[in-house]
Amino acid sequence: MNAPTPVAHWLRRFDKWAAPVLAATALGLLLAETLRPLRRRTRPRKERWPRNVGVAVPSSVGMRLALLPSMLGLAWLAQRRHLGLHREGLPVGVRLGLELLLLDYVAYTWHRLLHSPVLWRLHRVHHIDLDMDVTTAWRFHFGEMLASIPYRGGIPALLGVRPGTVVAYEGVFELCTAFHHSNWRLPFGLERSLVQVLVTPRAHGIHHSIVHRETQSNFGVVLTLWDILHRTLRLNVPQQQITIGVPSYPSAREQTIANLLLMPLQPPRPWERPNGAVPSRPEPPRPLHQLAE
Ligand SMILES: [Zn+2]
Repeated sequence: MNAPTPVAHWLRRFDKWAAPVLAATALGLLLAETLRPLRRRTRPRKERWPRNVGVAVPSSVGMRLALLPSMLGLAWLAQRRHLGLHREGLPVGVRLGLELLLLDYVAYTWHRLLHSPVLWRLHRVHHIDLDMDVTTAWRFHFGEMLASIPYRGGIPALLGVRPGTVVAYEGVFELCTAFHHSNWRLPFGLERSLVQVLVTPRAHGIHHSIVHRETQSNFGVVLTLWDILHRTLRLNVPQQQITIGVPSYPSAREQTIANLLLMPLQPPRPWERPNGAVPSRPEPPRPLHQLAE
């Protein structure tokens, strides 16, 4: 594809600056989660990692060759045609801040849509991982990348977000996704402060729980603000009580790369164990927004 010059320029920027930082961060997080693990592993890494990488390769290609160029191309086209909100009078910093907030809100609402019945066909490939670590952050079905183009590319473009902000946010989005999926035990006091603003590993671990009420919480990517505003923030579940995954997919044997890639063609299973039991948990004693260790 011959990308228009400004789009090619921003893609080169992404490859030159964001990609090396992302690779170094991933290595750092892999080391951190190995030295200071948060939750106990239930499956060997040598079983999960090749599968996660097998799903991640087509997804990364889809992200870099379709999603990112489309998001940038749409933002560039909208800018050329003066679509979107005209915020020319705003100070530079305020405009940038508004654009970044908007992109993060779009990411939050898109994640909520991924949990709707149709898109869950794609998103469950990510959620049925039986442990959660940095490699889970890459385990998205490539169809999910393609399906996100109209929403994650179209809405920011129509609202006048500039291509430069789109590419900058995408770098932050990827960094935060790697961070909050990692199995890194941060010092509890630090994470308790951090989670007031940013999505952290403990907060996102609750989103990957087999308890349905807990999966339906903590949808944020970068900021916890959107979960607070939409009353979807839940921090009071202790990590050692969480079982990661989806109850209807407890078998590691069926999670081959081929099955994972073909999974969107199969109808979703009900949210219950194969024996029909629905995982539940009594409401923890501490308040919803108080982080549990
Ligand atoms: Zn999710």
